[in-house]
Order: sequence, then C-alpha cells, then structure tokens
Amino acid sequence: MKLLILLSVFAASAIALQKRYDGYQLFQVTPRDRASYDALVQLYEQSEDYDFWIAPRAIDIAMDIMVPPARVATFVDLMHAFRMEYRVKMIDVQTVLDMAREERAQIPRVATPRYSVDWNTYYDFNAISAFVNEIAAAHPNLVTVSSIGRTHEGRDMPLVKISSGGAGKKAIVVDGGIHAREWISPAFVTWLINELVENYAAHPQYVDNVDWYIMPVINPDGYQYTFAPLGDRLWRKNRRPNNNGIGGSSCMGTDMNRNFGFHWNEGGSSSNGCSDTFHGGAAFSEVESQHVRDAILAVAGPAEMYLTFHAYGQYWLTPWGYTSALPSDYTQLYNLAVSAVNELTAVYGTQYTIGTSTNVLYVASGGSDDWAKGGAGIPFSYTVEMRDEGLYGFELPARQIIPNNLEVWEAIKVMAESLF
Ligand SMILES: [Zn+2]
Repeated sequence: MKLLILLSVFAASAIALQKRYDGYQLFQVTPRDRASYDALVQLYEQSEDYDFWIAPRAIDIAMDIMVPPARVATFVDLMHAFRMEYRVKMIDVQTVLDMAREERAQIPRVATPRYSVDWNTYYDFNAISAFVNEIAAAHPNLVTVSSIGRTHEGRDMPLVKISSGGAGKKAIVVDGGIHAREWISPAFVTWLINELVENYAAHPQYVDNVDWYIMPVINPDGYQYTFAPLGDRLWRKNRRPNNNGIGGSSCMGTDMNRNFGFHWNEGGSSSNGCSDTFHGGAAFSEVESQHVRDAILAVAGPAEMYLTFHAYGQYWLTPWGYTSALPSDYTQLYNLAVSAVNELTAVYGTQYTIGTSTNVLYVASGGSDDWAKGGAGIPFSYTVEMRDEGLYGFELPARQIIPNNLEVWEAIKVMAESLF
C-alpha cells in the first residue's frame, strides 16, 4: 500500500515535470485590414515567442495565438496600436491542460478491452503500435502491417494496408499525427482502421472497392513526447535537433508539414530552427518525411486520393498551399469536398469551411498535401482540420472523440465512393 501511494505520488510529480504553461494566454485575433494582417504574419514568420495555434489565413479570418506571460503586455500594445479586434480565449493555458488531464484520469477503463486502444480517451504511440498489430492478427484476411522505416529516435513507423484482395484497385492513402499535439488526428485515424475492419460486414463496399494505405502516426517521436513525463503537451515538430537557430544556435525539431519537397521553402515556413514552422535544412531533410515520401511513392500508381488529418479549426482544405493559384482540376476537388462536408454537417450540425485557395491570402509551402498532388501525382489531395473551433483547441475533450469520428466518417464515405 505504501509502495502504491509512493508510486502514485511519483506519477503525479513526473507529470508536473512536463513543460508548464502557467500564465500563458490564448488570444483570438481578427485582422480587419491589410496592415494588421501583415503585422501578424510578420510575428508568425519571424518570432519564436508566439505560438500560432491557428495560422494566419486572410483578413477577417480569426487566428489563435498563444502568448507567454512575459510577452502579454507587448502583445496587447500591438493589438491596440493596430486597433485589432481581439479577445482572450484562455486566461491560463496550464489550467486548461490540467483540467483536461484530470478529466481523462476519471474516464473508466474497459475491464477486458479488445484492443490496446479504444476511443474513450487518447493513447500514446506505444498503445497505437500495439493496436495495429493486434487488429492485423485478428483480421489477417483484411489487414497487413509493415514498418515504413524508423524515426530519428528509433521507433518503427507503422503502415496499415486494408484490402480484401484482387488486383487493379484504386487506393486511398491516409495519414495522421504529423503534428504531435493534434491528438484527435491519430484518435480518428485509428478509429477509421477499426471501422473499416471490425465493421467490414456492415459496409464491405468501402474495402472491396478500394485499397487503403493508412499511417496513423507519421511523427511518432513528437507524438510520444506530448505524452512523456518530461515532455511537452503542446509540442508540434519532430525531435531531431538542428543548428538552425539564430546565429547557428541549437534548436529542436522540424515542422514535418513544411518539409515536403514540392515548392519547398516558398513562403509560410521558417528558416529559424527554433520556430514551430521550421521547414528543415532542405526538402525531405527529416528521416520521417523521407519514409512517408517513399511509402507514398510505392503506391502512387493506384492511389487516387490522399487524406491527411490535423486539428483544429474545422477546415476541409484543397491544394495549393504554396500559391494562391488554383490547380487545374480545382472544380472537381472543391465539388467533392462540398458533398463530403454536407454529409459531415448533417450528423451533428458541425460546420466546416472548405478551403478555397481563392479566399486564402496566406501561403504555407512544403505541406504533405501539396507534395502528394504535385510530387506524387495523387489527384484528390486534402488536408482536414478537425474539431474544434478553438474553445478547447488541441485539448479537445476525450468525450468528443467519438462524435468527431462519426461525423468525419460520413465525409470519408463520400470521398471513398467517388472512386468506386
Ligand atoms: Zn497540423
């Protein structure tokens, strides 16, 4: 008993050693003119002090910016200088993280779980790795798991192929977890694997008509770091050190979603190795993005669709990210997104904005969706920013996982049916 108490005290203090966000505030800011917008873009690109939970998109579109306590006064001055519209969404980010963790701790565990994960709470990379192997063992006729390679820290990166066999089928490539802190992403992608396989009998057409190549976590080191006792719940990048800080100083991690090699480093990413949007020393400089590239190229022939899952903001985005110009088949991409989002919204009324490049001023180059379309030649490429709109942001309560997944599944069905 004494040992148990000791262990639980240790567990609590270990969590307390994660990076803390006491006094950090989350601001929602809406630029109403070009000068305000440009000032915010400058902050986004040049300062490593401000963490943009939602990046700048355009004038009149709100962005969420986390400001450290030492910068709050300066930031508010800036808001006033530009007469910007702003409000404080989180007065103390640490409180929000603590409350979410306490809430997860109260969630009852299933006594005899079928798999190492369920969708009542969030699970770390080890549990997700165990899950994909368990479901493959339970359904060898439908599921094959392989490793696309190892991460910088030596973790195997799983690829789940779901297929009922037969040659010449079209394929859909899905990934999640490229941004470590976006926990709903692996929580959806693992659910998708489960739905396609465990509920195959209820809707065999989604597996019989198309092959799926699913990578539930493509930034395992970063994702595991958001769970680690000495880690950081709000970590975004991978975990390979670089020397690209100011003056060649040492910094940690590359934004994998700015590291893909199609119009790499053409705006909307940072050359500062300490920035949250650091694009890496070169296109595909990171071993994880290299493995993802190679895994996608290996199936690029049959692949007609690429879906990459992020949070948050509720956007269904089409390429291009690197330019405001539209792809030549934009009408088809847009129309399919409209049909899919209509079905999504029909479930609970959740609104998604379809990212038309025309109303997006801001560019973000080096994204996996741009490369999937422009580099790998996969025509239907989408980035999906799931729940919410910033009430909880990255700390989407675990009780919203299943509702989120059910509504996004309706959109996925429409997406898949378009290839039948
Ligand atoms: Zn993201």
